[in-house]
Amino acid sequence: NDISLAQLINGLLRDVEDFPQPGVRFKDITPLLADAAAFGACIDELADLPGAYEADVIAGVEARGFVVAAALARAVDAGVVPVRKAGKLPPPTLSARYDLEYGSAEIEVPTGLLEGKRVYVVDDVLATGGTLAAAIDLLSRAGATVTGVGVLVELSFLKGRARLDGHDLRALLTL
Ligand code: AMP
Repeated sequence: NDISLAQLINGLLRDVEDFPQPGVRFKDITPLLADAAAFGACIDELADLPGAYEADVIAGVEARGFVVAAALARAVDAGVVPVRKAGKLPPPTLSARYDLEYGSAEIEVPTGLLEGKRVYVVDDVLATGGTLAAAIDLLSRAGATVTGVGVLVELSFLKGRARLDGHDLRALLTL
């Protein structure tokens, strides 16, 4: 059930203080991905969330979101599209710049693959929501319909959910 999955996930996260910057408590999902039963249970649960099964494509946010996206795509018989940091994808791409706590960042999606597609968006951790909000904006500009958003872990105290207005965000573990 949901409670035991959340507990399973929580037990396989590693907290890393002051990474990648001072003041950040990084939630390392590497032990979770390395555990066959737990990783499989996460993918099964994501596949059951609203919006996942009807997706034509799963979009994963670089880089840990790629791992989740590829596994989920096979579970729901969808394709995969990467949402990447600027400069990594060959042109043509669409890009979106967004603010971080310090400075800004830019992400990109390939053009020509997403028109008319139903796209479910995944990442490992929802923090401030800036990245996922920008990803949703990009996917919409690329002609996709976003069917929902799924993450393994939501850091609710950062209120990222509020930036995904109108979209159905589900988290397997909320901290
Ligand atoms: P944000 O745009 O603030 O929601 O951050 C999104 C990206 O940064 C996600 O792809 C997360 O993987 C990563 N991230 C931000 N904060 C954390 C954290 N405390 N632990 C793990 N990953 C994080």
